Amino acid sequence: NDSGFQVFREASKKANWDRTAIIDPSTTLTYGNVVRSVARLAATPRMQQVAPGDRVAFLLPRKSSYVIAQWTTWTRRAIAVPLCTSHPPQELAHVVADSRPRLVLFAPEFKHKIDETRNDDRVAALAGTVDFVEWSGDGDDAVVAANETGALDSQTPPLDKEGGALIIYTSGTTGKPKGVLTTYKNIEAQVASLLDAWRWVKDDKILLVLPLHHVHGVINVVTCALAAGATLEMAPEKLSPKGMWDRFAQGGLTLFMAVPTIYARLLEYYDSCNEEEQKKMRDSCKQFRLMVSGSAALPQPLFEKWEKVSGHRLLERYGMTEIGMALGNRYDGEREPGRVGVPFPNVQVKLDQETGELFVKGPQVFKEYWGNQVATKKAFDADGWFATGDVAAKGGPNDTWQILGRASVDIIKSGGYKLSALTIERELLGIPGVMDVAVLGVPDEIWGERVGAVVVYSGGVKAGQEAAVAKLLQEQLKTRLAKYEIPSVFHFCEQIPRNAMLKVIKKAIQFQQSVERT
Ligand code: ATP
Ligand code: MG
Repeated sequence: NDSGFQVFREASKKANWDRTAIIDPSTTLTYGNVVRSVARLAATPRMQQVAPGDRVAFLLPRKSSYVIAQWTTWTRRAIAVPLCTSHPPQELAHVVADSRPRLVLFAPEFKHKIDETRNDDRVAALAGTVDFVEWSGDGDDAVVAANETGALDSQTPPLDKEGGALIIYTSGTTGKPKGVLTTYKNIEAQVASLLDAWRWVKDDKILLVLPLHHVHGVINVVTCALAAGATLEMAPEKLSPKGMWDRFAQGGLTLFMAVPTIYARLLEYYDSCNEEEQKKMRDSCKQFRLMVSGSAALPQPLFEKWEKVSGHRLLERYGMTEIGMALGNRYDGEREPGRVGVPFPNVQVKLDQETGELFVKGPQVFKEYWGNQVATKKAFDADGWFATGDVAAKGGPNDTWQILGRASVDIIKSGGYKLSALTIERELLGIPGVMDVAVLGVPDEIWGERVGAVVVYSGGVKAGQEAAVAKLLQEQLKTRLAKYEIPSVFHFCEQIPRNAMLKVIKKAIQFQQSVERT
């Protein structure tokens, strides 16, 4: 019986039981410790009541307890629903009410949040069908009975790979977060292709700095690390850029995966350090064999600056909750800034010639939007291709893929042109003093939409100076962009709104205080 579940196959092999599986701020667990902890949690009466297809939600910190909960859920052949620790109760209530779990495991520090969540009418309506269980996730298993792992084997239901394994809610960048149901087969395919593409080995050690309610952290980091038999080091919950650099300085890591904004913040901190410190920081990057960026577009200036500092050309990949990783620069090949390479093995892609929308097919593609047949139906075409909602193009010297942005918020329709906000953002970010930026369409009677830019400018812009700075930026863009691509509406601010995955929430940006109109 595959009690370890295929994607954890290396983890389950007894030969690996003495190897370090997880390091978190409070404990270190070998693979043997993890397997025994899973066996113990699986054997509890509450877990034994969980049947294949039931949902088990968990609100757990970035610690070994998260991994144990996820894996235990999978040994019950149930559906794991990781909750976002930084979501307010109101949003947690949406996810709990929508996923209708049999069990909600939560860490003691989140008791208050859970109490509020339970008081929400939508959750209160589930009373009698869901158990909320406080669980400290104690990883210490020194006194585990010798036969517990044996019990795990005999009590584990058979695995139907077409059954649901995971519901992850999308980032909510374009609308309300949608529950994405992936099957065991989908996850196996996603993990297998990443292990292969990025050459995971047992001796790898990855530092996890991402949240655990999103495919990037859950699949690409946690599940891949455990499937490879490698070591997963879980960073403290709120690790600052300085904290990350300090950890880099201690050495011993081989892999790092993050969203572009994390790389930007690491560079911001680097810039604030003196030369001696900077030299040490640069040297600390030598330990890595691979650094990956994804979940949002990696602007070329950021790619270049990171290369200058770290010596690493970031491997950019493109993926979605619904499809796992679909496109990526090759491990061995040229890593092209601003491009996302080629399809991962097993992934088929095609482009709608009219709209430029990217379509994807393959064993990695999710089964359905949870409880939303209408949305599921709409997301696939007649031949079973999944419509990503992203506009892409293929070309360049190596005939590789480029993501131009989401059809809904990143493609600006202005005077008959379809402009890519990502391209304009990239050029703005290349201008000294521009710290952060979001470009979007601003409704306009004549043009349909105008190009608007929200800019975080170094040192801020004094009241009354907005028009002058806007003009300066427009001037600089003249050699970089076509005339119609240059933003005509600017808004300066201190911070651009971002969600828990640090993605820009464009729908939250409004141009009430627009300044320059040309
Ligand atoms: P929602 O679906 O709720 O609006 P979301 O699409 O942001 O939120 P995710 O599934 O987390 O939720 O993100 C997938 C999206 O992220 C992709 O559709 C794409 O727009 C964007 N993305 C991911 N990687 C890249 C990349 N390398 N370059 C550009 N965009 C990317
Ligand atoms: Mg989406």
